[in-house]
Amino acid sequence: MKTSIHRYPTPNLSDDQFLRAVCGLRPCRHGGLRLDREQLGSKSIIHNYGHGGCGVTISFGTADLAANLVDQAAQNGDSVAVLGAGVVGLTTARELLNRGYRVTIYADKSVHETTSSLAGALWLPVGIDFGDTPAKIQRMLEVLKQSQAVFCSLDSQRYGIEKIPIYEPEQSATEAHLFENGTIDPPTPIDSFPFQCQAKPGRMFQTQFIHNNRFLSALQEDALALGGEICQRKFTTQDQLIGLNEQVLVNCMALGSRALFGDKQVYAARGVLVHMKPQDLGYGIHDGFKYMFPRNDALILGGCFHEYDWDDQPDQAMVD
Ligand SMILES: Cc1cc2nc3c(=O)[nH]c(=O)nc-3n(C[C@H](O)[C@H](O)[C@H](O)COP(=O)(O)OP(=O)(O)OC[C@H]3O[C@@H](n4cnc5c(N)ncnc54)[C@H](O)[C@@H]3O)c2cc1C
Repeated sequence: MKTSIHRYPTPNLSDDQFLRAVCGLRPCRHGGLRLDREQLGSKSIIHNYGHGGCGVTISFGTADLAANLVDQAAQNGDSVAVLGAGVVGLTTARELLNRGYRVTIYADKSVHETTSSLAGALWLPVGIDFGDTPAKIQRMLEVLKQSQAVFCSLDSQRYGIEKIPIYEPEQSATEAHLFENGTIDPPTPIDSFPFQCQAKPGRMFQTQFIHNNRFLSALQEDALALGGEICQRKFTTQDQLIGLNEQVLVNCMALGSRALFGDKQVYAARGVLVHMKPQDLGYGIHDGFKYMFPRNDALILGGCFHEYDWDDQPDQAMVD
């Protein structure tokens, strides 16, 4: 009898493993992230949105820059309102609380109902416009380095972070830019997959995988433990923002910024994911926006990146 030479288990993708299909809208922005300060009546608004397909990846880096802008805008002892409770709002609130601010997070949805909760998430700077000026591109590279440094410093068990090998088939496009800035070691060619797979082997790289359900829960616990408050609230007009008690507001409302701040550069990129029963595989497979990630609560099969598509429901044809 021939024994298996494979180091990793083969995924079970049979129909009886199917749990659900989900759909999320990535908050993209032409020209790159908006990270700046605007005056709205008596309020200072610090914008922190446009994280596209890698908001988890860059969250801590943009939180740091947004907090620097708050430092410039705030008077001693000011309370700060963080608008939005996705990964960007929570990391920003956590950073501000660590700097000694009193923080209230306002959001119309709970964290586990946000786009952020749908992401896998793989630590990978994809699906984002790095910016339309050399200064913005340089800022983005610094954001990546800063964010990765924080991810590496966290208690991996509590925040649900693990470094895993990611395998790519031969035909998948090599995205050299992902490895050029030094945050991820370049891929190594492989001549076989260490699991059963019919595709031709291409290469392997290692990066962090973030079990996002656990990660977001830990961030929310941090915010509350540091004295932050969470308030459910939907904003439909700027007057509602002007009516808040806080003088400094940090806008982390992602796609919500388009309507509230009239930012026509903001657009959605739709992604559909299939959740299978969880399987402890220890590796991921990546082929652009097609992938398989072993999250602790589901084996996640993706995906797609449909720009300008605002339909937030999964369609059966894609799931099949
Ligand atoms: C299918 C899919 C896969 C992905 N995979 C990855 C990945 O592997 N790695 C990675 O790094 N990223 C990934 N992403 C991208 C990542 O999920 C996003 O970049 C990130 O979630 C953006 O976070 P956010 O906090 O800006 O937005 P959101 O999570 O959308 O949070 C926005 C917040 O603002 C609030 N809000 C909005 N409008 C209003 C309003 N008018 N009033 C009150 N509150 C409001 C919402 O309630 C919410 O709390 C993926 C995304 C999708 C859809």
